[in-house]
Amino acid sequence: MDMTELNEHFSRILSVMKEESGASTIDLWFKDAFVSDFDGRTITVALENDFKKNIVTNRYREKLKQKFSDSAGGDFQVALISRDEIAAEESSIFVSAPQPYVAKQEEPEPDENDSVIGSGYTFDNFVVGSSNQVAHSACRAVAERPAATINPLFLYGPSGLGKTHLLFAIVNSLRKTRPHTKVRYVTGEQFTNELIDAITKKNTASFRNKYRNLDMLLIDDIQFIAGKMVIQEEFFHTFDTLYKLQKQIVLTSDKTPKDIEHLEERLRTRFEMGLITDIQPPEPELRTAIFKQKTQSIGLDLPNDVLAFLAENIRSNVRQIEGAVKKLWAQSFITNEPITLDMAKTVLSDYFSKERSKITPEAILTLLSKRYGMPTDEIKGKRRNANIVYVRHMAIYLILEYTDLTLNKVGKIFDRDHSTIHTARNGVVERIKNDPEFSKDMQDIKAELEER
Ligand code: ADP
Ligand code: MG
Repeated sequence: MDMTELNEHFSRILSVMKEESGASTIDLWFKDAFVSDFDGRTITVALENDFKKNIVTNRYREKLKQKFSDSAGGDFQVALISRDEIAAEESSIFVSAPQPYVAKQEEPEPDENDSVIGSGYTFDNFVVGSSNQVAHSACRAVAERPAATINPLFLYGPSGLGKTHLLFAIVNSLRKTRPHTKVRYVTGEQFTNELIDAITKKNTASFRNKYRNLDMLLIDDIQFIAGKMVIQEEFFHTFDTLYKLQKQIVLTSDKTPKDIEHLEERLRTRFEMGLITDIQPPEPELRTAIFKQKTQSIGLDLPNDVLAFLAENIRSNVRQIEGAVKKLWAQSFITNEPITLDMAKTVLSDYFSKERSKITPEAILTLLSKRYGMPTDEIKGKRRNANIVYVRHMAIYLILEYTDLTLNKVGKIFDRDHSTIHTARNGVVERIKNDPEFSKDMQDIKAELEER
């Protein structure tokens, strides 16, 4: 049986399923689906994205298996795959092709990391606004002319604002325009684990070989190596070797080099040699545009009022959009109704309040206590030292933001009356407006709270 025949069976099966379960439901999950592979026993069906793949695997795999077996006459298995996975397979075949002029034993191992780089993260689908414009153009410049002007490139900013997306975009763009460039993307954590592994297996030579022969090294969340002596030492030499050979280095972190604690001085100065640029939380308009892009990319066209509602409720971390959209999609699927603002409000007010309810006064106090190295009792206590008051007021503001507690109840936590709490909160609100440093600090804390 060839692929054309199998696809004919598949389209007949889909028509039958439409009669059984309704055309809109089947269209929703099987839009653009096709049979992508057959090994004599297992029929692989490709779906538009991972989300659809998971749903179809749960709900329709058995049915498909039966229907294929009936229709094509045989006992077949069915596997589901997403287009992203197909793309990743194709590109990893390409990347692991042997390089010319390299003796066999020095050949780089096929890069197991390549599959982690989703082909869905590109410059084309990165939405640009004032808060990420510089980071975006710097990454484009690096992808277009590696090591020509900006080296190293250091991106920093709180979680969920697109740093990893931009690194993937660089890699994806290079795969197209300069497929022979030896690129490696790892997180600081992976770099650490690989090195520890190499040391344990007395295999550091091949580790070095892997890292020092690259044309471009991208390390995501480099702050992970701070405070780890052996790792920083090795990374220092990796950095130096690549830099001297004029190879491109790109790093991301949640903080500036200056603010990463326990980072070796010589690394800090090296990180500062190129361009350091930040990504800030998006403005409301940019947020709406990102959400629009995200939802369309998974095949969902949301009305503008729903997008605006999402943008209003998801502020500091773009990543939350995925959870919210999945909820909406599931609801639309169950009820077989289009997504409207009313549906979004009903479904998501619950979702948002659940998300928020995980953020308790204790969680806020613990986070601030860790961040500022101050016992929670001090934060709640009576001392008037300026640093303590600073953190205390932040705590009051955050508790009022994230919980449903009244001024009086918050007052009880701090053993103060409601008007003191009210004044403290207003002070923080004013300061957020007028003091950019402070406002940035707040954004970081909120992102961290929402991230947990
Ligand atoms: P970070 O690495 O900074 O924590 P990510 O790159 O993982 O953040 O981004 C989180 C999610 O938000 C990803 O799905 C990413 O595609 C999306 N995202 C963030 N900023 C943008 C943007 N400007 N345009 C499109 N998608 C974005
Ligand atoms: Mg990241």
